[in-house]
Amino acid sequence: MVTVSGNALIGPELKHVKDVRIQISDEGTIIDISKEVKPSDHELPSSYLLIPGFINAHTHVGDAFLKDQTYGLSLEESVGDKGVKNRKFESSTLEEKNASIKNSLEMLVQNGYTTFLDFREEGLEGINLLKSELTNYPIRGLILGRSSREEQITSIMRKSDGFGFVDVFSINQEMMNEVEKIKEKGPEKLVAIHVAESMDMVSKSTSAFGKSEIDLICDYSSFDYVVHANYANETDLSLLKKNEVNVVCCPISNSYYGLKFPPIDSILKKEILLGLGTDNVLSCNPDPFRLMSMTLYAARSNNQNLKAKEILKAVTVNPGYISKRKIGQLEIGYSGDMLGINLDNPNIKFSKDVYTALTMRADHSDIGFQMYKGKVVKWKDLR
Ligand SMILES: [Zn+2]
Repeated sequence: MVTVSGNALIGPELKHVKDVRIQISDEGTIIDISKEVKPSDHELPSSYLLIPGFINAHTHVGDAFLKDQTYGLSLEESVGDKGVKNRKFESSTLEEKNASIKNSLEMLVQNGYTTFLDFREEGLEGINLLKSELTNYPIRGLILGRSSREEQITSIMRKSDGFGFVDVFSINQEMMNEVEKIKEKGPEKLVAIHVAESMDMVSKSTSAFGKSEIDLICDYSSFDYVVHANYANETDLSLLKKNEVNVVCCPISNSYYGLKFPPIDSILKKEILLGLGTDNVLSCNPDPFRLMSMTLYAARSNNQNLKAKEILKAVTVNPGYISKRKIGQLEIGYSGDMLGINLDNPNIKFSKDVYTALTMRADHSDIGFQMYKGKVVKWKDLR
């Protein structure tokens, strides 16, 4: 058992509570949160604020080795079928692929992520590669695989945490029947798909199927969430809400390709669960602080007024629910994944609102304490 005490953002509403004592079991689960005044294993100074560890709701950790090699290219030229990314995967050695994954995992941990949801390329081989690297890092990687060559969906889903479809052109009725059967036995498996990322995909879907990508995927009951939805209209969003399909937006990645800023205000207004992800490492580093601040700043230029706290939830509480795991909040029964942010650091000092400070000003250098499943990853004052 381990105990941590200090000021904290507690529960699903990230309520700011002073002087709490969090007790974590040997298995890494939070078993008690109290106002009891007792000595703790880790007593954080009063300038610190404990928050849940960040969850990156959408990544492709395999392509870090393509950093800064696709800026200025279109989405298709960069990550399309015959794009730079796929050509690089085809021509790289196992060693190079490993080094690329390692680099992404290092960045994720350094930036305060304790979980990420990855769309993993290259079938079973890709899944195994990431799984074996994950054993060396204090982070939870939820892997949504995809088929390569003749691999069956069933074997991909059995070896991973779910299935991440590339687009609506990669699904058919037969596959979705198979997915449905697997989910009946394993409801914790996650099924997701990229949709409405570019106008090009929206038009292609309409001319091929006579309906939007979102309309199409809502015909199937297996989808837990969609990724992007930056070209989703009000009808699409109402369909997602009605079918309880959550949305993960990746505004930095959309900007990288010159695509539209996602309709985050409408998503929140419809009370659709919103997660934020950084998407391909080739387009931007997996950094929750940049992601949150860019989202809030760019929203203003797009006539959207978002609340800082809602954006903080989109990288903690919400993706916890989206992942169907007990993660993403400081609450009894949840995983002991947390960060201690030093509010006295120059980045944040004088801020009158912790939610704005965390989303628009803090960066990874303000993380003084980091814990994953009750184990200390970083504790500045104990150097
Ligand atoms: Zn993606």
